[in-house]
Amino acid sequence: MPVYHYEPKEENTGCEFCRDGFDYTQSIKDDRLTQCPECGCEIIKTPVAAAIGRSQSCFDDRAKAAGFSKLKKIGTGEYEKQY
Ligand SMILES: [Zn+2]
Repeated sequence: MPVYHYEPKEENTGCEFCRDGFDYTQSIKDDRLTQCPECGCEIIKTPVAAAIGRSQSCFDDRAKAAGFSKLKKIGTGEYEKQY
């Protein structure tokens, strides 16, 4: 059976089980999961390839992509121009 990788829909949500993503084996006929089986938070399926080599730095990169660290570095007021 194929293995699917899931992670919380919202970053920084979820329980110890799902917070960093998890792999779940299920039949291709089964509906994909929409909630964490442990805590019930909303989860989304991600490509398995993205799970390979996944680490904390991936989160940092994603945070950077989302502009989080940028906001911190640019500082007072300037980030507002990005929206
Ligand atoms: Zn969970």
